[in-house]
Amino acid sequence: MEHNQSIIFVQFFCLIGSSCAIAWAIYAGVFRIAPRASWRFALANTLTVGGVLLYTQRSEAINYLYWFTADMTILLGFALVRWGCQHLFKRPVSYLFDLVLLTSCALLMLLVPPSLAYAVYLVIIMSITAATLISLTGLDNVKTSKKHMPMFYAILINVPFFIMGALFIIRAVALFLYPEDVAKLSAANKLNAPIVMWSYIILLLLTNLVLYGNALTRLVYKVARLVNRDQLTGLWNRHALLDKLDEVDALRQRSGSAYSLLVLDLDHFKKINDTYGHIAGDSVLKHTATLLQQSLRKVDFICRYGGEEFLIILPSTNADEANIVAQKIQSKINSTSVQWQQQEINLTLSIGYATSKAHINVEQLLQLADEAMYLAKNTGRNTICTKELNISSQ
Ligand code: GH3
Ligand code: MG
Ligand code: MG
Repeated sequence: MEHNQSIIFVQFFCLIGSSCAIAWAIYAGVFRIAPRASWRFALANTLTVGGVLLYTQRSEAINYLYWFTADMTILLGFALVRWGCQHLFKRPVSYLFDLVLLTSCALLMLLVPPSLAYAVYLVIIMSITAATLISLTGLDNVKTSKKHMPMFYAILINVPFFIMGALFIIRAVALFLYPEDVAKLSAANKLNAPIVMWSYIILLLLTNLVLYGNALTRLVYKVARLVNRDQLTGLWNRHALLDKLDEVDALRQRSGSAYSLLVLDLDHFKKINDTYGHIAGDSVLKHTATLLQQSLRKVDFICRYGGEEFLIILPSTNADEANIVAQKIQSKINSTSVQWQQQEINLTLSIGYATSKAHINVEQLLQLADEAMYLAKNTGRNTICTKELNISSQ
């Protein structure tokens, strides 16, 4: 391959790498979009460009800067991509494992005598470490993505990571079997297969594209969270409620299994605000939300219905079971208190519940549960009541 073409490849690679680094830095610094992840992606692109530039200086005389440092720079870039993805999806960051891997790789490389005869081992060690880091990044991403999409798509969008991992493994195996080709495959200025060069560029672009896609997905989830979640308690809000009610009701129509609604209202909450202040009131609301989350099943849907009112959907739960759940919540609320500036705030709840029936629609059921809660208020508070269509009972 022409030397000129190699120069164009390196220039093109550096242009794309630095543009991506700048784009990520703007994402992080200006738009504050996932800044911790975006800064890591910016640095990863910068290191990749730096590493490739060092590669171009390689000659047959092994030099620690152009061989060892260049490889470690690129590998640190791969590790940063992994850490960035983990930050992006709020997963535990694998600093310890990755740093042990990078240090082991560095030590192994330093053990290799600095001569072209042994250079093949340097490239094999580098390739195996790179393949490990990149494939683990892909696996991390699949694990997170599959929570939000079918497994097939989770794997599909992370294919660039697996291709890159596989290419590094193929490179290591090929060099192990045909070590005389080391000069061809290890240095950018001697890469004489255009297909290898272009695959580097395509993979750099694809990897950044996947990372942008991931950052965008996180942004979408953040917005969705703002739309559907109550900011104070983190519970679902009224906006999310109607969709969930329709879903549970459709399931009842199909499977015939009844569901129940609970409306809970803190008693004399205004007095808490008046006595201890609004911040104490907020703290009581958060305490109640946590207690509800701890008392209920994963399938139950807990929503902040209004100021100090909560609504719970209990799928596959009949009236008797709903009553047991209501009693459990009530006794938990009664037996705990909120600590506020060395004072204890005791709480009680009025709970109303209603259970679905074939002839009752969603709005009617909501109305019944609400009326049952007001019945509980009128019956003296700290009680549980239920209502059925046209028949009221306690
Ligand atoms: P009842 O036993 O009849 O339910 O009496 P109550 O005092 O609990 O009910 P009322 O409707 O009279 O008062 C509700 C209070 O809840 C009034 C409102 O200021 C307060 N509130 C609503 N939202 C919030 C909030 O987000 N934080 C705080 N601290 N207070 C809130
Ligand atoms: Mg109240
Ligand atoms: Mg109220």
